[in-house]
This record gives sequence, structure tokens and C-alpha cells, in this order.
Amino acid sequence: MVVIMAGGRGTRIAELFPNIPKPLIPVDGIPILEREIRSLASQGFKDLILTVGYLADKIITYFGDGSQLGVHIEYFVEEIPLGNAGALFQLRAKMGKDPFLLLNADAAFDVDFNRMLEFHKKHGGLVTLFTHPNSHPYDSGLIIANNDGNVEKWISKEDERPQWYNNRVNAGLHVIDPKVLELSQKNLEIDPTTGYPKGKVDLDRQILKPLCGTGKMFCYDSPEYVKDMGTPERFHQVEADYKNGVVQAKNLYNKQKAIFLDRDGTINVDKHYVFRIEDFEFLPGVFDALKMLQEAGYLLIIVTNQSGIARGYYTEEEYKKLEKWMNNELLNHGIHISGSYYCPHHPEAIVEQYRKDCDCRKPKLGMYMQAVQKFSLDLSKCYAIGDKIRDCHICELTECKGFLIGNNEEAGIIKNIHQGKIGNIRYASDLLEAAKEIFNSSHR
Ligand SMILES: [Mg+2]
Ligand SMILES: [Zn+2]
Repeated sequence: MVVIMAGGRGTRIAELFPNIPKPLIPVDGIPILEREIRSLASQGFKDLILTVGYLADKIITYFGDGSQLGVHIEYFVEEIPLGNAGALFQLRAKMGKDPFLLLNADAAFDVDFNRMLEFHKKHGGLVTLFTHPNSHPYDSGLIIANNDGNVEKWISKEDERPQWYNNRVNAGLHVIDPKVLELSQKNLEIDPTTGYPKGKVDLDRQILKPLCGTGKMFCYDSPEYVKDMGTPERFHQVEADYKNGVVQAKNLYNKQKAIFLDRDGTINVDKHYVFRIEDFEFLPGVFDALKMLQEAGYLLIIVTNQSGIARGYYTEEEYKKLEKWMNNELLNHGIHISGSYYCPHHPEAIVEQYRKDCDCRKPKLGMYMQAVQKFSLDLSKCYAIGDKIRDCHICELTECKGFLIGNNEEAGIIKNIHQGKIGNIRYASDLLEAAKEIFNSSHR
């Protein structure tokens, strides 16, 4: 079952399309909601409920019972405004026991929802939020989660936020177990005559946010396309992205391509076990390089050995603080890091909890394989880039290609790379040179 909230008024975007409800705004000739329903139908989601309010009859007339799109659509018309979650209580009887998708039609999206449902079932929570990095985290709802994806905090637009945070924004797409409605009813005032909550119910504030820190709500980080169309600029971007096939291509149903980036000596000057912000120095050309790779459609994924944690030089918390700071600096240059993996281990660690012969420390492939799974990667279209040969070991074992950069590796190894003696690995003087070669070969 899929519930699509399609009752919102487009405010700023309405200037471009007066008297057209937001879901019917044409994007490259086809209403945005029609594009989304077609994508859902193609993934097997055929039972839809649209909650409608503003210009409801136009939406109902356009989609009818959905049979032309191969789906079955029912409508819930809000005669009096119920807030964005009020309708759910009145629809409760139709929902049965299985988790349902609750999607906000204010955004343009194309997502592999079967994959998200699988994640939901695997984690056993009551709610899964679709989260992603966006271009304006500073005025978006931020989600703070632990390493397992358990949501700990929800920072709304108006809340005070920490100085450095991960760019992990709630996108308005959810998997919800109907039990949540019963649970949250306890905190709402119920109208005794109808049995439904009184007045308006706000989904984020009254139903989801209270689940933070309970272990019942998870976030599903995804690089798939979800973009708010709230302003004319964003609308034009969405239209261009549909025309260029970018929206559809990012659905994880399709295999993705990525750049695996070492950190120290590749992104920043290797000063040996850097963990303080004041010691972190971006290498020349890094911003241009990452921007170029991102624009060529690659996901950017950091894969870094951090044995300084095992050696007791700094803590995981200190590492993570620097990671957030670095991601924030990159974001200021328009660069989004999709994934960050670090190995805190070492076989001879001083700190006992990190003393192990793990399968994540490069040259081993543990971190890469996690990313391959999470981001649905096609390794034959990926590159590994680093200043040590161990950063590129994956290229000797798989179809992944790679670049050894800089002068931090032994001269003999660099020479062998120059002579093309080691697998799929080539040499570049720095990240920018590697990026240019990748860019050129993907546009040939
Ligand atoms: Mg390095
Ligand atoms: Zn490890």
C-alpha cells in the first residue's frame, strides 16, 4: 500500500503555474505525480491512496481510478484541513498490518522502494526515513543517527543545530508500520464522537520525532534522486534532470558508478595521523577534481584506514568530528560525499578494542564491499584513487580501475605503475589529473 500526500499548495512554484495543483505541474510535458506513479507501478506498487485537498477535483479528474497507468487509485479528500498526518488515522482501516509507503508529492523522486522496504524489514523498526545529502542542509530537517542507522535526534529547521553535522536530511519519503498510529494516538487528543485525533496532526512533530532515541526509527541513506521543487530555480533543475535521464538513472534498481577516495595524501596533505581541524589542509585542485567527478555522475565514497584510533593517537569521536568538518567544507564547494568508511583497527593496536586482524583495513576489501552493497555499484565502472598501492589493491582483484597519485608510494612501485605493470592501475600526479582522465574517458 502506498499513501501519497498530494494535498499541498505550491507556494513559490505557483507563480510559474497558476491554478495547477503541484502534483499536476508538468515536468518536461508530463505531470510530476504521473512520473512518480509510473515509476511505482513499474516496481510493482499498484495500490495507491492519494490524499488530496487543494484543487482536489483537478487531480481526481486527471488520474481517475488509475487504470490508465496500470494502478488502482483511491482518494481521500480532506474537506477540513487535518494536517499532513490526520488522514492516516481515518485511513487506518484500509491499511491492514503490513508496513506502507508514505510519500510526499511535494518532491520529485525516483526511488527503488523495494530496496527501502527490504532495509525496513531487516532493521525491524516501526519507521524508516529516507535520508540523503541535499544542497541546503542548513535550512532542512536534519537526522542524527548512530552507526546502525538508529535515529537519535531530529533537528528541525527552527531548532538550534550543532556546529558540525552530517549532511543527512529527511526527504519526506517513509516506510511506516501502521502500529505507529496506535502508538501515537496515546499522545494525541482523541475526539470521542469520531474516534480520530482532534484538529490537525503534524507527521514530523507529533508522530515521528517522538520515536527518536527509542530504537524504533531508522534512517535509510540513499543517493537516489529526491528533490524538492519548491522554488522556480529548483523546478528548472528538476526538469533538466528528467530530460537528461539523471533522475531515472539514480534509482538504485540501476547499478551505480563511484569513486573510492583515500583521504590522507589524496584529499588532504598527509601529515601522519591528522585528526585536528587546524592540521587538515586540502591538497591543491581537490575541490575542482571532486566537482568534476560528481558532475560526471560518480558517487564519491571515502575509504580510509584510520589506525591512529587503534594506536591511541585519537578517538573515533575525534575522527568523526573531523569527518563532519571536512564534509561541511566540501559542501561549501557544492560537493556531496555519499559514503564514508573508515577502519579504526590494527593487528598490534594499543587500544584493545581495536586490536584485530579485521577485514576492513586496506588492502583488504571489506569497506569497498560494504559500499558496493549499499550503493548498488557496478565495480567495472568504478575507480579507486589513493597515494598508496594498498588503496588500489581492489583493482588487482576486481574489474575496478584505479589511479595511484602523488609521490608517497615507493619509487619502485610508482615506476611499475608507470609501465602499466599492475593491473588496472594508472599513475596521475594528483587527484585533479586523475579526475580529468576519468572525465575524458567517460565522455568519449
Ligand atoms: Mg593515503
Ligand atoms: Zn578494520
